[in-house]
Parts: sequence; C-alpha cells; structure tokens
Amino acid sequence: MLTYNLALVYLFSGLGLTVLSGYFLLNLRKQEKLQNIEKMMFKEEYRVYLRKTPHYKNLSDKDKKKIEHSILLFANTKDFIGISLDVSDEMKVIIAFYACLLLLHIETKNCYDNLQTILIYPTAIVTQRIQNNGGIVSSEQFFIEGQSSNDTVIIIWHEAKSEAYHLRHNNVIIHEFTHEIDFMSGEIDGVPPIERSKYNEWTRVLHKDFLALSQKVLKNRDWGKYKFLGSYASTNEAEFFAVITERFFEAPKSLKTNFPELYNELKSFYKIDTIKLLKY
Ligand SMILES: [Zn+2]
Repeated sequence: MLTYNLALVYLFSGLGLTVLSGYFLLNLRKQEKLQNIEKMMFKEEYRVYLRKTPHYKNLSDKDKKKIEHSILLFANTKDFIGISLDVSDEMKVIIAFYACLLLLHIETKNCYDNLQTILIYPTAIVTQRIQNNGGIVSSEQFFIEGQSSNDTVIIIWHEAKSEAYHLRHNNVIIHEFTHEIDFMSGEIDGVPPIERSKYNEWTRVLHKDFLALSQKVLKNRDWGKYKFLGSYASTNEAEFFAVITERFFEAPKSLKTNFPELYNELKSFYKIDTIKLLKY
C-alpha cells in the first residue's frame, strides 16, 4: 500500500512539475515576444494609413508615440483571421488604431488583454433571425456589420475601412470595441469600469436619454434631436453606450449641442476632448 501511495505521490509530483514547467515556458515565450515587440520600429507605411484617418493627425506627439506603441502590441499579440480575404497590414493598423484610441487616456497595461481574436469578413454577413410573436413564428434576414464577445471581435472590413477614413456618424470598429470596454466591468450593460464616485451620474445621464429615445422609437414620431442617435441605440443600454461613443468620436460637435450631458460623461470617461481632437 505504501509503495502504491508513494507511486501516486511521484506521479502527481511529476504531473505538477510538467504543468509548472509548461506554464513557465509559456510565460518565458510571452516575455520574449513582448521584448521583441519593444524593439520593433513603427513603419512609415503604417503612418500613411493613419494619416488618412481624421483622428490621428491632431494627436499630440506624445499621444502619437503612445498609440503607435499600442498598435504594435495589439497587432502582434492578437490573432487576426481573415474570412474569404487575406489580412493586410492596413487592416491590422486601422483596427488596432481605433481600438486603442478608445483606451488612449484610460490606464491599462495593454489594449484589451482578454481579447484574443479579430475575425475580419469582407462584407456584411447575412443571417436569419427567428421571431416568435405570440406563437406565430417567422424568420427574417438581417445583416451583421460587426460583433463582439469577451475574446473575439468580428469586423466587416468594407464598412470599417470607409468609416475609418471619412467622418460619418458611424464607426463599426469604435462600436465593437466599446462593447469590449463595457465588458471590462464584468458584464455588457452600458456601464464600463468607471470610478465609484462617477457611477451615479453616469447611470442617471445615460438612462435618462436612453429612456427618452426608447419612447421616441415606440411612438415613431416627434423625434427631434433623438434622430441624431437613431433607433438602434434604443436596443438596450449596451447598444446605447456603443452608439453614443460612435457619435462622440465621429460627430462630437452635434453630440455636444444636442446632448451636452452625454458629451461631458463620455469626455470624462475617455479623458479625450474629441471636439478639440477633430479641430472643428
Ligand atoms: Zn453593438
């Protein structure tokens, strides 16, 4: 019996050592990879892509340096997988730029530590949605222009590229990565990880306009300034946060004029004054 127990002790010690040494080896490789990224130069051709965006050129030199470093880290530590397309440097740089722009002044070691994979599709994915209205089941087609979960983000490159290079109200990269930030607090509910002292004001301001928008959508009339946010933002609080973040970066002046409280909450959270960034 003693021999049997000893054999088990040796077996489990051996297994434990194997797991531990595997863990250390993985960590060592990760450290080596990070050290190699630190030595990388930011290629001039990457800046050519960045200069085509409305958001890069007015960043301070310090912020440009910081975001370029974040882009290298992001582009070299995440898995970019193209579906029916070859992933290009342009795709990696532009997706990483807008993802990291959101976190530029928010303290994090790396952009989106938990995120592993970015799936890139050429055009919108058409899929079926099954609806059950009081027992009457119907199906309808709808388009997915992006999607995010805790470890994977889906980006549709056709939309992402045109929105990245032109100021529109929408920006699918910003939208999907806002969901990732939202998730950093533990759940996707429209409340990102904010300071405790700011929590009440954040929920008061966002909830007020979310409810008002939902009423407009329900009645489908007298939209007034809520037209600027659009009906999709009324889907739930998480979509509301993602849409107002798009407007904050893409049309900040209109957001501030129509919804000054929303603008101030987002400015305080992202620690970026987007009106100044776009130099209107
Ligand atoms: Zn969304």
